[in-house]
Amino acid sequence: MKVVRTRAEVRAATAAAREAGHRVALVPTMGYLHEGHLSLVDRARARARCVALSIFVNPLQFGPAEDLDRYPRDLERDLALAEARGVDLVFAPSVAEMYPGGEPRISVVADPSLEDRLCGAARPGHFRGVLTVVAKLFGVFTPDVAVFGQKDLQQALLVRRMVADLDMPLEVDVAPIVREPDGLAMSSRNVYLSPEERARALALPRAVEAVRSLFASGETDGGVLRDAAWSTLAVPGVRVEYAEVVDPATLASVEHVFPGTVCAVAARVGSTRLIDNSIL
Ligand code: AMP
Repeated sequence: MKVVRTRAEVRAATAAAREAGHRVALVPTMGYLHEGHLSLVDRARARARCVALSIFVNPLQFGPAEDLDRYPRDLERDLALAEARGVDLVFAPSVAEMYPGGEPRISVVADPSLEDRLCGAARPGHFRGVLTVVAKLFGVFTPDVAVFGQKDLQQALLVRRMVADLDMPLEVDVAPIVREPDGLAMSSRNVYLSPEERARALALPRAVEAVRSLFASGETDGGVLRDAAWSTLAVPGVRVEYAEVVDPATLASVEHVFPGTVCAVAARVGSTRLIDNSIL
C-alpha cells in the first residue's frame, strides 16, 4: 500500500495504474475508519484493480459551531485497517495541500432544489463544502468509479447530480448502510457517545425500522409514517432534527408512500448529531 501526501504523488500513482491497464476506484473518507468505510473498499475492489482511499477532514464542510476541531483522527490505525483490507493507495493530504490558494473556499454549488432539504436545512453550506472537496478529489484521482455510502444519502444524491450535470467521466456507486449488531448505523461520530447516549441513539434505527414495518404491513400514508418515526424518536435526551418520508429523486416530502420512498431521520443525542435512513 502506497501512502502519499501530495496531489502530484496521487497523479503519478494513478497514471502508473492506468498505464498498466488498471481501472481506478476512489473511496473518499474523513478517516477514523470503521466497517462502513471498509465495506466501500470491498465494493471498490470489485470494480477496479487499483483501489484508492482518501482521508481528509474537510474544513469546508463544517459549520462554525460544528465539530471540526474535535473530529476523531487516528491516521496510524486507519492505515493499518486500509492495508489489511487491500487498499492500494492512500491519500492523506494536509489542508494546505488540498486548498493551496490560502483559505479553503467553495468552488462548486449544490443543486439548490436538493441542498436545503433534510441535513442541508440544519447545516447551511455543508453540501457545497462536500461537493467542492469531492470535485477536487475527482480532479486529482480522475477515478473510473467512486464509492459512497447510503448512510449519507443526500450527499450521495448530490454527488450523483454533480457528476451528471457537469459531465464528469466517472461512475458513482452507492453502498448499503453497515450497522452495529444492535442496529446503530456505524459512524466515526459514534465514539462521542457516552454509554447512556449510545443506548438512546438506538431510537434512530428503531424509528427507521418502525416506518419500514408499517410500510411492509400496507401503510402508505406519509403522515402516518412520519408520525410513527417521530413517536419512536420521542426518547428523553434525543432531540429530533427531522424525521421524514421523502421522494428519493427530489427529497421532497411525500404524502403517498411508494416502494423506493426514503425514510430519513436526524437527531442530536447529547451534543452528537446522528443520521439514519432506509429505502422503503
Ligand atoms: P465519512 O468518513 O463519514 O465522510 O464517510 C465516508 C464515506 O463512508 C461516505 O460515503 C459515507 O456515506 C460512508 N459511510 C459512512 N458510514 C457508513 C456506514 N455505516 N455504512 C456504509 N457507508 C458508510
